[in-house]
Amino acid sequence: MSKTSTFTGFYKLPLEERLRIVKDFANLTPEEASLLKKTGALPLELADRMIENVISAFPIPLGIAVNFLINKRDYLIPMAIEEPSVVAAASYAAKMAREGGGFFTTSTPPIMIGQIQAVGIKDPHRARMTVHTHKEDILKKANDQDPVLVSVGGGAKDLDAKIIHTATGPMLITELHVDCRDAMGANAVNTMAEAVAPMIEKITGGRIYLRIISNLATKRLARAYATIPKEAVGGEEVVDGIVQAYQFAAADSYRAATHNKGILNGAIAVVIATCNDHRAIEAGAHAYAARTGHYTALSSWEKNQNGDLVGSLEMPMAVGTIGGAVRTHPIAKIALKILGVKSANELAEVITAVGLAQNLGALRALAHEGIQRGHMRLHARNIAIAAGAADELVDIVSEQMVKERKIRMDRAKEIIEQQRKTRK
Ligand code: NAD
Repeated sequence: MSKTSTFTGFYKLPLEERLRIVKDFANLTPEEASLLKKTGALPLELADRMIENVISAFPIPLGIAVNFLINKRDYLIPMAIEEPSVVAAASYAAKMAREGGGFFTTSTPPIMIGQIQAVGIKDPHRARMTVHTHKEDILKKANDQDPVLVSVGGGAKDLDAKIIHTATGPMLITELHVDCRDAMGANAVNTMAEAVAPMIEKITGGRIYLRIISNLATKRLARAYATIPKEAVGGEEVVDGIVQAYQFAAADSYRAATHNKGILNGAIAVVIATCNDHRAIEAGAHAYAARTGHYTALSSWEKNQNGDLVGSLEMPMAVGTIGGAVRTHPIAKIALKILGVKSANELAEVITAVGLAQNLGALRALAHEGIQRGHMRLHARNIAIAAGAADELVDIVSEQMVKERKIRMDRAKEIIEQQRKTRK
């Protein structure tokens, strides 16, 4: 008989009881169940307060990327990621960029957009004008919701209203522009959007449906650029190769998706290490990459007059150094201390520089030696470990598989067996 996943009041049960139910449901062994209780630096009780229905915490490796020079300041970069090669590539790329003075960054003020959807308006153009007429009242109502944010210099600063044409008729979308200072801002903006909705309903005569932040944070952009001397990158041919690789991504969405994934490999690892909302950053990045209607590369790579490589990246970067889980998670707090950033803007700029570095690392590997060599070596090590190799056997098995170009679990097991026999 199949087991049911319906449990009334699962969330009300003590954590221990939830774990017992999952253990029975999935036939977990006692060892597996006790492993779930080992949550390291994130105590179970704290995890239980962060999200719902908690049974454990999920550890992923935290690495430190070195060599980063950003606006002439040295940074150590904490990166939380499960994928091999990323931290090494970021460190290597930062070393190359350092030869040209490192990364230089800027950012816009931390303005997020909150949308309020009004439908069923007979005269949407008149309604749009009315929203603008009541701008000061609407902004005041929004700011009344968050005196703390206002006291640190943030708050709703402006608004806009636009008419969109949809399959169910025209809609009036009012957009609050909220300066979120050091917070990512989703809770703050959503609260404001909800608070002003009845006012907008009244003045427009429409019916309000959604009141929510937009993750396409076009008013909260971070930018990074770097000039990498041709010698540092491996010569002018490599520079040309990287420029060609970029042009491929600029023109072809299939390549652009992977190009941008490379940027996010670096950026998201820092976003996770600081316990920021990586879904928000990913959604914003891809929407920004498609803002012209054609999904393209977020970064660009050029060759300057000297034949050196110049990379630049601009993307939405809604991260906080306060709020959300940033100050709850004990490791995130330490990650912020390692970074030594003083504001959300500085964090956003550092993350963008790391994204650009990661992009450089990947493009250089692709254009220069082919990314597969280094990657396969690490992949082979993982397969060797998964097949049961330990200690020096890990290197022996993985090297043999790389040499044979057969990086597979069955081959790893065969080699382990052979090694065991010869050692007897
Ligand atoms: P928050 O509400 O926890 O913290 C922000 C608040 O901190 C501000 O409203 C302000 O009152 C206060 N504050 C104190 N000092 C501040 C300073 N120096 N700068 C700014 N604010 C200061 O969190 P939040 O940042 O509003 O929301 C982030 C959370 O919202 C994340 O956990 C995210 O996952 C979640 N979320 C995201 C979405 C989305 O992206 N679509 C939607 C809903 C919720």
